[in-house]
Amino acid sequence: MEVEIDQNGAVLLGKNVACDAHCPKPIRVVTHSHFDHIGGLDESIAHCEKVLMTPATRDLLEILKSKKSVDSPKIHCLRYGETFEYENEKLTFFSANHIIGSAQVLLESDIRIVYTGDFKLYRGGSLTAPTIPSDILVMDATYGNPHRRRTFKNEITARFIDLVKKSLEAGIVYIFGYYGKLQEILEIIHTADIETPVIVPEKVFKMMQVCERHGMKFGNYFSSKSEEAKGLDHFIGLYHMGSKQWIGKGATKITLSGWEFDMPVRQERAKEFTVAFSDHADFDELLQYVGLSKPKRVITDNKRGGDAVTLAKEITKRFGIPAEPLPSSDSMSSVVKGFSA
Ligand SMILES: [Zn+2]
Repeated sequence: MEVEIDQNGAVLLGKNVACDAHCPKPIRVVTHSHFDHIGGLDESIAHCEKVLMTPATRDLLEILKSKKSVDSPKIHCLRYGETFEYENEKLTFFSANHIIGSAQVLLESDIRIVYTGDFKLYRGGSLTAPTIPSDILVMDATYGNPHRRRTFKNEITARFIDLVKKSLEAGIVYIFGYYGKLQEILEIIHTADIETPVIVPEKVFKMMQVCERHGMKFGNYFSSKSEEAKGLDHFIGLYHMGSKQWIGKGATKITLSGWEFDMPVRQERAKEFTVAFSDHADFDELLQYVGLSKPKRVITDNKRGGDAVTLAKEITKRFGIPAEPLPSSDSMSSVVKGFSA
């Protein structure tokens, strides 16, 4: 039994499973549709026996990549709680509470290996994602530094809603964020009974439709190309972060940032705000996960940015559990073999 993280970001679990980048193993897993987790998907479809993902991830990839790119009998959709068996290994998905369709992976053989993928534990102040007991825990380390704590996380949603309502009194409001956060924020706007219509670019519109098919609830939203949108002079615009500098001149601009740790809402200048809104676990949540999962060893993902080295040290210091970042910072290729439970 072994765990590795390749230099290309493939998280290798047990004998047969490669997650989130291509590796010539029989089973490829895509934990979610963010670009740093779908690397080498075409190659995996060509060379692996099965490519596992949740139904929502498959439907999102149809839009983010193309219909053709996920039109293969090798793609096997697995719902949360369902199990897929290959040789003597049993693989189960659990919600990761990161973006719609995102999954944690449990691989069971004689030991239990859990790969969290990108995750967060809390939504609107409630513990939402399952923490899965493990022997080896492979975890996201985006905010693996003691300075990356959002101690005010319970206040963020309420402060965001207040800001949007107040800003709407002054005119149009644009909100900028990454895919996944935009969908979550539209659900929050809807739940808060803000009835101002929402305009989104065509690609985001199609993603919203997928999210609705998979159970998310939104109010009135329109594609920016639609006739309804063209006639509106008061609305909320939900746009990808990349368009922030081009769109929304004269309107209130709100940026959803995962890198604000000092306060829930920061005013940057007149009519410009940053809201501390992340879809990743902060430092406290990472430690909480370890405490609840009770692994015998921890691997921190040192490939996708963040603080994997610091997180591993903190875990060992606080829990007395062996922990290490992979790939290791000083090697081109790192392999950890023979973990025994
Ligand atoms: Zn992600």
